[in-house]
Amino acid sequence: MTDTGTDSALDYKSVKLPSRGVFYGGALPDGGVEVRPLTVDEESLLFASGGDATEKVHRIIRQCVRFPDGFRISDLLLTDRMAIMLYLRVLSYGPSYNFRWRCPYCNAANVSEVNLADDLKDTTPEDVEATVRRRYSVPDFRVDEPLDVALPSGKSLSIRFLRVSDDRTIQQRVRQGRSKGGAGGLEYVLTIALSVVSIGGREDLRVTEREEWVRRLSARDGMYLRNFRDDAETGIDTTVHPTCSSCNGDADFPLPLDAEFFRPTAVPEGGS
Ligand SMILES: [Zn+2]
Repeated sequence: MTDTGTDSALDYKSVKLPSRGVFYGGALPDGGVEVRPLTVDEESLLFASGGDATEKVHRIIRQCVRFPDGFRISDLLLTDRMAIMLYLRVLSYGPSYNFRWRCPYCNAANVSEVNLADDLKDTTPEDVEATVRRRYSVPDFRVDEPLDVALPSGKSLSIRFLRVSDDRTIQQRVRQGRSKGGAGGLEYVLTIALSVVSIGGREDLRVTEREEWVRRLSARDGMYLRNFRDDAETGIDTTVHPTCSSCNGDADFPLPLDAEFFRPTAVPEGGS
């Protein structure tokens, strides 16, 4: 009854982010950060109604993650942020996550389990280099920013990877778009436009000009750009491959992060 070991339950654990720090100009050596589990207070903050969901997540990251001095969260890659969320979840509640999904073939409602620590694969700079060298026949490809891309049509551009600061811009623009009545496809266009650094060697283009350029890309160039960017980016592959309990169909999609993610219930099946 004298157990007051709550402090050790909140111990920090060292983890390495998928980028291994290569995109931060030395500000995050080896991608190493320290993460501790959430407190009940912090869990409540995440679930409090109202407020900006993204800013809540950033507040949790500021409170539960130790970065090297001087590192700014706004510089954090979105893929590294995703990895941090996964580490926070695993440390706080364990790796087992039961997610709900609807079968794309028979429309049955399913609940499947994923082990967040074992089933999701880290894509490190080394992995990215091996993939891009093989898949795109660029034998000397190195992970770096900006990254030159030659599209199937012959157009050339250079891109970089999205940061927390870009996510803020996107969320803000989407909110404005909504208030003006519909921001159809805007978020998608912005995720590409904001990653464009230069087009045909020109770096002085405004965001709206880059947006316009992205919208006019052929579908084929667009697909190539998307695939290349995904293959060239470090991160954790969150694709899951569950099997439908009703028709046995195999599905694959990015892991859905629902309320269970940060407030798991003990029993996966919603029976009763
Ligand atoms: Zn099915």
